Amino acid sequence: MTKKKMSIDTKLIHAGEPDPRIGGAVSIPIFQSAMYETAGEESYHDVKYIRLNNTPNHKAIHEKLAALENAEAALVTSSGMAAITTSLMTFLSTGDHLLIQDTLYGGTHTFVNHDIENWGVSYDFIDAHDPASWAAKLRPETKVFYVETMTNPLLQVADLKAVADFAREHNLISIIDNTFASPVNFRPPEWGFDLSCHSCTKYLNGHSDIVAGAIIGSSEHIEQITHKLNHLGGTLDPHACYLLHRGVKTLALRMARHNESALKIAQFLHEHPAVESVNYPGLPDHPDYKRAQELFDGFSGMLSIELKGGLEAAKRFMDRVKLPVVAPSLGGIETLVTRPATTSHSGMLSDEREAVGITDSLVRVSIGIEDVDDLISDFDQALS
Ligand code: PLP
Repeated sequence: MTKKKMSIDTKLIHAGEPDPRIGGAVSIPIFQSAMYETAGEESYHDVKYIRLNNTPNHKAIHEKLAALENAEAALVTSSGMAAITTSLMTFLSTGDHLLIQDTLYGGTHTFVNHDIENWGVSYDFIDAHDPASWAAKLRPETKVFYVETMTNPLLQVADLKAVADFAREHNLISIIDNTFASPVNFRPPEWGFDLSCHSCTKYLNGHSDIVAGAIIGSSEHIEQITHKLNHLGGTLDPHACYLLHRGVKTLALRMARHNESALKIAQFLHEHPAVESVNYPGLPDHPDYKRAQELFDGFSGMLSIELKGGLEAAKRFMDRVKLPVVAPSLGGIETLVTRPATTSHSGMLSDEREAVGITDSLVRVSIGIEDVDDLISDFDQALS
């Protein structure tokens, strides 16, 4: 069987592994060397040096990540934000225009409306659920169309197929932040996206012990982004490459558990009298349920809730839960709860948050891989 045809479970283990194995090592060693002996490299980007993203640890994890989304190439970066900003800076320069979804991870939102105008790039936020409204915002200088697979923290699923089609039709580079879904649940290149960005800090590594990012796409696009990253310097060090390489091997097992437990917990919360509303695209009454079913192989482990009693009830719930850790971030093996208004989206002004539906009382939950019944009884006592 060719590697391309293998299931993602098998690729997670075998894709990108050095062949032959280095010194026979079953687990790739960490190449903790800043530079390598010159071997006649002619281009700057081929000089063997950690910042130039070409150590054996980089090469192995790049090949593995590309295989997961059936893409040609991948590049790891020092954080998810480095993946996002370096991709945008590669394809946008002075005078260019960006179309970008209005509900986004707070860091991306803040980067767009605080930073990119400083280098002469203009932008328009778009409602990614309303394809009919996009053409009016298109300009001759529009170069990039950027969206998220599931929005953070409201778990909305836009018309992603229409986004990729619109971008292709108008010659735009389509970029999607696929962090919340992970390649197990959604593979953007299969739906026509040019580039998929990840915060590997989350599901891809899965163990809450590194900060890392990745970009996956065609060899041509990844080479352009690599050159920009080589200049900007947002490189992932070999030790973190190794940890990501180790963590990602269990992604399929972890995602299966995240998907299954989050659905059960979303159903439990949906029925609970203390809960006002649950945002989870796997619930049939979620407005994007049908689309999520069509696009995804699983609905992921992220949900958000509003409790009856607003902010006070949210704070009480977070004080009372015993198993989840009250902490920012997501996608790890442990369950985490946070109020995005105070963490992931605290860089936005409160009226910017309100405008996109992120209230101060919204609680975001990242469901871990603990026993689901233990989590449900803990949530139940915290809500009682
Ligand atoms: N994208 C999403 C959807 C995120 O939730 C985050 C971080 O929370 C990022 C990107 C940024 O990732 P990092 O913290 O690794 O820079």
